[in-house]
Amino acid sequence: MKTSVIIVAAGRGLRAGGEVPKQWQLLSNGHRVIDQTIAVFRGHPAVTDITVVLNPDDMAAAKLTGCRLVPGGATRSASVRAGLEALVDDTPDLVLIHDAARPFVPVSVIDAVLDGLQTCAAAAPALAVTDALWTGVDGQVAGTHPRDGLYRAQTPQGFHYAAMLAAHRAHQGDAADDVAVARAAGIAVRIVDGSDENYKITLPADLARAKTQTRPKMDIRTGNGFDVHRFCPGDHVWLCGVSVPHDRALSGHSDADVGMHAVTDAIYGALGMGDIGQHFPPSDPQWKGAASHIFLEHACALARENGFTITHADCTLICEYPKVGPHAAAMKAEMARIMGMTPDRISVKATTSERLGFTGRGEGIAAIATATLVKT
Ligand code: MG
Repeated sequence: MKTSVIIVAAGRGLRAGGEVPKQWQLLSNGHRVIDQTIAVFRGHPAVTDITVVLNPDDMAAAKLTGCRLVPGGATRSASVRAGLEALVDDTPDLVLIHDAARPFVPVSVIDAVLDGLQTCAAAAPALAVTDALWTGVDGQVAGTHPRDGLYRAQTPQGFHYAAMLAAHRAHQGDAADDVAVARAAGIAVRIVDGSDENYKITLPADLARAKTQTRPKMDIRTGNGFDVHRFCPGDHVWLCGVSVPHDRALSGHSDADVGMHAVTDAIYGALGMGDIGQHFPPSDPQWKGAASHIFLEHACALARENGFTITHADCTLICEYPKVGPHAAAMKAEMARIMGMTPDRISVKATTSERLGFTGRGEGIAAIATATLVKT
């Protein structure tokens, strides 16, 4: 049994908004609407081949692989006919004709159409109308219409190929859809279950829905941060929110909490939103001597405002002295408190640099941090 699919994409409709017709618009997964539509049929085991009918102007730039491309006609019917004629030598048994602008047709709907074709000359999906129907004049309700027996037609509409080719050849003028062409030729069409998921992208709201639907389910970001502060005279250093006694202090515009700065920059990095220097310019006197939790709290708030949860932060302090180990648990607890996280999602650890380089010579402390942010 040979089952061919014809996807009709020759329309020029711009009602969905944007600069290009809806079938060429990009979804949030980086695929165009038409790619999404083709992928559904390509993944169906019963489908033998796919023909896409395009506006002649789109043929060169279509970049569609693994499909037969056919230039369409002036009307939808003419385009479908061009697709049918292109299959003459293949003579498939069945043909499914589908709108490119219905990219989310469920496999169950395709199956229902194919099932219908086992016993009927034609089968097409539809949804019974459940809303009340009005007629309206000048924005006023002028009457109600009984909805019994009314259906909202969808695609793919399925036919036996030879009969449908003959129907199209005999048909004069345009038609609302291929069911209309089939019925004009006396072919009975079985109604099978459509789906709300199989909506047609027509208006900007439909395109917005399609974009939301194709957004990656989870947005996971990782950012890194690196910071260095040099030693200066003093008797303690601030490290990850904890004051650690030492024979020197760290020099900096703020309290020079090198660990907290690295974590803060890691969060900004994951968000793709700059760094501490950009949000709190050192040239601005109001941040002189500032407690670094202000910066960290700002980065955490920015993450929240952008829909992200910080799920983990890891900070490594690089120095010979002071010894960080005895204070690591307190640092972890303080960082967790400031960030509104549980301490099990924070790591503070330390390493020396084997007495090499500026940290090895005891000229200052470096810190490196990684933060993981998740948006669901
Ligand atoms: Mg710094």
